[in-house]
Order: sequence, then C-alpha cells, then structure tokens
Amino acid sequence: MLDHSVLVLNQNYEPLNICHVRRALTLLYQSRAEMLENGYGYIHTANRDVPIPSVIRLPYLVKRPYHIARKISRAEIYNRDQFTCQYCGKQTKQLTLDHVIPRYRGGQHTWENVVSACAPCNRRKAGRTPEEANMKLHKVPAPPQVSRYAYIPMHYMKQRAEWERYFPH
Ligand SMILES: [Zn+2]
Repeated sequence: MLDHSVLVLNQNYEPLNICHVRRALTLLYQSRAEMLENGYGYIHTANRDVPIPSVIRLPYLVKRPYHIARKISRAEIYNRDQFTCQYCGKQTKQLTLDHVIPRYRGGQHTWENVVSACAPCNRRKAGRTPEEANMKLHKVPAPPQVSRYAYIPMHYMKQRAEWERYFPH
C-alpha cells in the first residue's frame, strides 16, 4: 500500500509527477504538500487514523520547460507528421524526407524545413520550392509539440478515477 501511486500537482493544480504513498506521507508530515484526495483509506495508528493520499499538491510553483527540443531524425519527422504526406495528405509508411527549400538552394536540415512526403510527391516537387512546383504544404512545419505532462507516462493518467479531473482534455 505504501507503494501505491500518488498524483503530485503543482501549486497551480497542474499535474507534475507521480510518487509513492510513502513519499507523499513524508511530504504531508513535513507540511511540504497538502492532501487533495484521500483515495486509499486510512492507516490506523495508536493515536489517530492517518488518511492515505492519492492526490497531493505542492505549496510552491515548480517551473519546468514545456517544450523539450528533440533531435531531428527521420523517425521523428514521420511521427510529427503522423505518417502523412505533407503535400497530398496521403497516409502511408512509404515516406521520404523532403526539404521544403531544397538543400542545394540553402535549405536547412531543421524541423522548419523538413517534411514527410510520399515518393510521387517528392518526385513531382523535385528540386523546386513548393511555390515553384505549385504544391501546397498541409501545415507549416515546426518542432514537435510535447505533452504538457511529458513527465507523466500516458498510461498513468487513467490509472485512478479520482485523478481524471486533474487532467484537462
Ligand atoms: Zn504525396
């Protein structure tokens, strides 16, 4: 039971991470957190019943980066584009990387200039810019968005019913 998971909220009520009951009880005992949800009942001691938290909140704001710069790679580009050709919109595993501004014309190998393209679109565009090839990008390429709760694995988020209200959809 001391190993059960406890959701830790930032001072602004945003989910911050997960800890064990053991750790949460220590934080509460030291007044370094407040309990928001008692999800596991009580620990019975000689003097009193100690509620077992399943959600606690820190009294101070923990600042953390929301956007983690990820290294650009073929797989990351395909994932960012959800395996969709950025020109014709076809979803396929048979993708190529396209430099929007061709490399030989100064185009960089960056999140902003590399997109997923199916082979026919890549051939059609060839060494031209989208404007020259009269091909329109589905969206402006950018670094991938990282979940605000990047430190909390997805499968944890639905672990306990009383946690759900703390994860806005
Ligand atoms: Zn295509």
